Amino acid sequence: MDFLEGYIICPNKAKMDILEKLNQDNNFFNYSFMTLEDLKRRLTFKVKQNAVLKLSDHYNIKPEIADAYINALLMLNGSYDSKKGLFLKEIYDFLLNSNLIETDIIFINSIKNHNFTFVGYDDSLELKYVISLLTDAKVDVIYPFATLNLLHLSCHYFPIIEDEVAYVFRQIIKLIQKGINLNDIKICNLDSDYNFVIKKYLEAYKIPLELPQNKEIESTNIYHDFINHIKDGKKYQEIVELLKSNDNTILNKLIEVINAYKLYDNDPKDDLKYWPYLAKKISFDSSKYDNTIELIGMDELDFNKNKYVFLLNFNLDACKVIKDERFILDEEAQALGLDTTKSINEWTKAKLCASLNQNPNITITYSSMHSFKANNPSPLIDELNIEKIKHNDYEVGYNKVIDDLYMAKKLDDYIKYNEKNEILFKYYYDGLGYNSYDNKYKGLNKEVFHNKIRKPFTLSYTDIHNYFQCPFKYYCQKILRIDTFTPTLDAMLGSFAHAILEDFENENDSFDFEVSSKLRFEDEKNKALEERLYEFSAKDIFYFNKMKEHIKLVIEEIKAHKNHTSLNNTLCEKKMDVSLYDGNLIFKGFIDKLWYSSDKSYVAIIDYKTGKDKESLDNLIYGENLQLPVYIYLLKNDSEFKHANLVGFYLQKINIVLPKKGDGSLEEQIQKNLRLEGYTHPDYVDYIDDNRGEYLKNYKENKDTSVSKSSKIFNDKDVEDLFELVSKKVDETYNGIMNANFDITAKRIDGVNISCEYCPFVDCCYKTDKDIVELKGKKWKEEDENANE
Ligand code: SF4
Repeated sequence: MDFLEGYIICPNKAKMDILEKLNQDNNFFNYSFMTLEDLKRRLTFKVKQNAVLKLSDHYNIKPEIADAYINALLMLNGSYDSKKGLFLKEIYDFLLNSNLIETDIIFINSIKNHNFTFVGYDDSLELKYVISLLTDAKVDVIYPFATLNLLHLSCHYFPIIEDEVAYVFRQIIKLIQKGINLNDIKICNLDSDYNFVIKKYLEAYKIPLELPQNKEIESTNIYHDFINHIKDGKKYQEIVELLKSNDNTILNKLIEVINAYKLYDNDPKDDLKYWPYLAKKISFDSSKYDNTIELIGMDELDFNKNKYVFLLNFNLDACKVIKDERFILDEEAQALGLDTTKSINEWTKAKLCASLNQNPNITITYSSMHSFKANNPSPLIDELNIEKIKHNDYEVGYNKVIDDLYMAKKLDDYIKYNEKNEILFKYYYDGLGYNSYDNKYKGLNKEVFHNKIRKPFTLSYTDIHNYFQCPFKYYCQKILRIDTFTPTLDAMLGSFAHAILEDFENENDSFDFEVSSKLRFEDEKNKALEERLYEFSAKDIFYFNKMKEHIKLVIEEIKAHKNHTSLNNTLCEKKMDVSLYDGNLIFKGFIDKLWYSSDKSYVAIIDYKTGKDKESLDNLIYGENLQLPVYIYLLKNDSEFKHANLVGFYLQKINIVLPKKGDGSLEEQIQKNLRLEGYTHPDYVDYIDDNRGEYLKNYKENKDTSVSKSSKIFNDKDVEDLFELVSKKVDETYNGIMNANFDITAKRIDGVNISCEYCPFVDCCYKTDKDIVELKGKKWKEEDENANE
């Protein structure tokens, strides 16, 4: 080995390379390994891990920002000579006084008689700073720079990512056939675009390769239970005991964080604000196996110069460029004696060129189309005079599965676009299995399924609606939980409007519109930031302001209506749970608003809507339009209101109204739009509107005070029928789910597919026309000839 005994300062990957060589040489040397950052920390100072939470508390900032300040502080090479430098010095002093800074005097005193060899680092100011610290401590330093050999390099060009990967795997097979050990083959520079294709080829060729784990602790059940226990007021120790199971991998990670950040004596509720940040700090190591191909990054090329490296994806991003966006900007970096992003980018490029030129067994590839996005080749191809080898042909005969898939794809192109392909015509054979995939839901083991579901089981109106639209849709959403729901601006505006109206109804005379709208806006903004790290844009704020102005008008209208109703009491967001099947099922729901008389003998249901919903009761037997009937069902199960007379059930549209030419002023249109839409009991109409129709869109009287035919009305028997119908739908849904019936069956009513239009699972169900059930539309109260469909 070329290095003098003593400390070798190198990146971790270089350490593995050096150790492997030592093993091969069968020699023993007295080396201690350390990274440049570790050495810098031991020669200067370290910041304790829990400092980030203390700093976050002290400055009342998010932990992510405190983390950024600490990272910037650790960058500094002993100089604080700028405005930001002074601020970082203030942070340093705060941490020092809080006993959160550690220094290692013993180390500094113990290194005097040792050699320090630096390997694999750029000639940066940071390196110079660390070397100067060693020189001050009178230590010998050696820094071997590698000499550069120029090789003849070539890059293989492919039209699409699939061809690129196919080529790489064919070369790997050739290496394996030549007897090359899998441990000596590396795949470099993969990004997520490649995951799907690479997995397909690994499976087809049965080649072992560990793809990185995409595990995020926040999406695990154990993390959700952990947070719920905190919310329930439990202590960390109690929570750990409650969560112990046969597999404690995730729990152990949580315990590590509690210990590292010294949280054990805290009230867990006080730490709730930190957990989104702490959870992101948790990582899972990928398992390492012998005799597998290893994935490496561009920065590891240097340590793999004796291996067979396949460098894929040699595009614009192959040579990473750092932008001048760090906490310490380039102009300040210079003053502080730090490396600028410009110099870091130059070394990165020089290092990549050197790495490419040191490996005679490197295969560089590039493809111009990745899924749906175009790709551009790395400018280094021209700069370094790398030869371009273009490939257009597919080579048949390496793997049958891959060949069949290729053939099927070409057959698709032929059938759909009449694109002819030579290989397809030459090699196509009967029995390819084209178009033979069976997408049918194949059922679940009921026992396993029942053991997995939470008890008591809960259902809501939306669950029933989704289940009736398509059981497979419900399965994906609520059992597999593969829906990645992201609230839209419309949904956020709807939640904002609902919250202000709730304040208005609950706070009565003490309601202050400005205070409520400000608070509710902040709630939405914080929710978006905390749950999705989403910051409101200028466009979002513009629409929130528009909605605020609109809701002011809505409140004025509701106030005017209140002068014409004798239902003078209000309940908002009333939670109504119904326990069924001996407590095994909880049917749950919230009603936006109930208006009721003081003695609770008359009640009206009002549901605010910001979308395009209609007050229709058509197609109830197919599970459509069940929302208002579900509210009746909940009300009739509620101890307070079960005997009340139902005056009406309505939607109230509170969305922003765009004026139409010729339809009156904006105010008039808003007034019209805000009338309650829905069904009224004609005997009780005076309770909700003493002007008998002024505030009700679907209620009109003729001159002789009889109810007009176009009115939407109901009687007591209808209430009973709707109750029974919902009860039946709840039973059907629950029994269907308990029987694990999640067939792919979408509905088409009168020629309109009501299930699939916005379904997020269209890419995984592979529905065909045979999965769609044709139904005939059913008006409310029409004869039930196909009620069992
Ligand atoms: S796309 Fe249609 S058939 Fe497929 S899961 Fe969704 S609703 Fe069901």
